[in-house]
Amino acid sequence: MPESLLEQESAAQSDSPTPSSEAATEIDPQRLPLPEETQPLRIVWDYAIVLAAVHLIALYAFVPWFFTWSGLILAIAGHFLFGMFGITIGYHRLLTHRGFTCPKWLEHSLALLGICNLQDSPARWVAIHRMHHQHSDNQPDPHSPWVNFLWGHVGWVVCRHRDLDKTSHYERYVRDLLRDPFYLKLERRRGWFLVYIGHALLIMLAGAIFGYFASGGRSDEAVRYAASWGVWAVAVRTVFVLHGTWSVNSIAHLFGYRNYETRDHSTNNWLVALISHGEGWHNNHHAEPRSAAHGHRWWEYDMSWAIIRFWEKIGLVDNVVRPKIMQK
Ligand SMILES: [Zn+2]
Ligand SMILES: [Zn+2]
Repeated sequence: MPESLLEQESAAQSDSPTPSSEAATEIDPQRLPLPEETQPLRIVWDYAIVLAAVHLIALYAFVPWFFTWSGLILAIAGHFLFGMFGITIGYHRLLTHRGFTCPKWLEHSLALLGICNLQDSPARWVAIHRMHHQHSDNQPDPHSPWVNFLWGHVGWVVCRHRDLDKTSHYERYVRDLLRDPFYLKLERRRGWFLVYIGHALLIMLAGAIFGYFASGGRSDEAVRYAASWGVWAVAVRTVFVLHGTWSVNSIAHLFGYRNYETRDHSTNNWLVALISHGEGWHNNHHAEPRSAAHGHRWWEYDMSWAIIRFWEKIGLVDNVVRPKIMQK
């Protein structure tokens, strides 16, 4: 993370959060306007079309021909493998907030898993999220639901934000990441999107091979399994992970309780925490952004933290940042 941002973040950590078990917060009823940099609103059509397509493909889950038990099991497994390891642990706690350090091979593997969720390149995701922490629920937060729920959930994803296309923006927010040629390559010619398409094709190919042998050599079953794994293990899983992440931005800035009086409207929401592997303890996270643990109280279960702690125990990761409440 750029040093200036790290300084701002640690300043925010030292002065803002004060524990409040009352969970009562004065929420400013005043709505935010859309970020100025999005005016006049322009749809990013290529991204909007791809997102619409993956949602439409996911709807084939309601057609029985596409259902296979292996497809369903892989969708659930993929929710953990790509969603938790890729987005929650990789993109968010490691790349954005540097909540722990690890070998480069692990960092790059987690980033690749993150890409397989159709949530943009690591550098762009990190830049947007660091900007969100700096301006949460104020201008120019790119995705505050205090504009309106739909904007905070998905509207911001498909509308052009002029700042996010500027080189100076990347210089400011993700200089650390772009020093690594690995992340730079993923930015060029939409390399990250090719990774997403490649992983989808690989899963479908594996489905075809599995179906062929499982049915004793029937090619029609090979086709059905390829389609089933494409629908379930790729599209349904991608859509589920997308809405899990988007819910952190929308629901967990509107509904839930607060342990800390942060400067934003972030909340802790158990439902969001459940579907996003611990990310729903979002008020805790805004209070201490660098902490690799988002659950601060005993009932705030955080599966991603359990994994990071296990990795720390076996010596795979180091310099794990803990919240103040765990340091006492
Ligand atoms: Zn937030
Ligand atoms: Zn964050």
